[in-house]
Amino acid sequence: MTEFQPSIIVHGGAGPIKDDSLAARLDGCRAAALAGWEILRVGGSALDAAEAAVIVLEDNPLFNAGTGSTLNSLGQVEMDAAIMAGDGLRAGAVAAVTGIKNPIALARRVLEDGRHVLIAGEGAALFARAIGFPECAPASLIVASEKQRWDNKHGTVGCVAFDQNGKLAAATSTGGVFNKLPGRVGDSPLIGCGTYASRVGAVSCTGYGEAIIRATLARDAVQLLQGGSEPSEAAGLALANLAELTGSSAGLILIDSRGRVGYARNTTHMPVCYVTLGSDPKTAV
Ligand code: ASP
Repeated sequence: MTEFQPSIIVHGGAGPIKDDSLAARLDGCRAAALAGWEILRVGGSALDAAEAAVIVLEDNPLFNAGTGSTLNSLGQVEMDAAIMAGDGLRAGAVAAVTGIKNPIALARRVLEDGRHVLIAGEGAALFARAIGFPECAPASLIVASEKQRWDNKHGTVGCVAFDQNGKLAAATSTGGVFNKLPGRVGDSPLIGCGTYASRVGAVSCTGYGEAIIRATLARDAVQLLQGGSEPSEAAGLALANLAELTGSSAGLILIDSRGRVGYARNTTHMPVCYVTLGSDPKTAV
């Protein structure tokens, strides 16, 4: 018998979004949330659902993750990703990786391997090679629009899921910030900063990584849940703390230990989509 009612929420990154791409971004978020939901619906794990949802977003060139990632100061793609299971605090992450179509899947392999939490740069490429993980030509991740615009691009992606066994997972993937120095690592692959999951709650953040890291935003949101805040209240309070401590704005999605979904942003936009039992996918910007 099902003990818990599953839920899932995804985000497509915080920041200003032009009106003409809003609908397509919401469609992308909906497709990702539904891919994860299909796994949860038939009793699959939160971890599998979060990974599957983020893969859909990484493969969508509209978002700043996987294919379509923003370019660094050398005009190259370097990506960060992390995935974490709330049960047992198992985590895997990769940072500053290139030539990997789905960094979240490589992060999952780091989690399953279990020796390390975070592997960066060339080391991550060596790890991928050692486990036979497929690589791709780095240039195949650069989409024409990104090359042309050479412009600031938002759209880090993330997913938080809660499964029928009452387990939580969080996953975040990003190309980072535009024009970053080669080797720069943002908040997304850092556990407790852009990504966190425990038995209390699971969180994925988006926004200016240098601020999110210093405020350990994801962990702060989970602490607020632990202190008794409701999910959306915890999300809002964590962002207020971030703004007070660093002067920065951001967005985050979360789910608590009862499967209740929450999200907040203090940026102009953050496309989200969430699905809960018995209701149609709901979107917001
Ligand atoms: N948090 C990401 C980073 O700083 C960027 C973003 O969310 O847009 O790498």
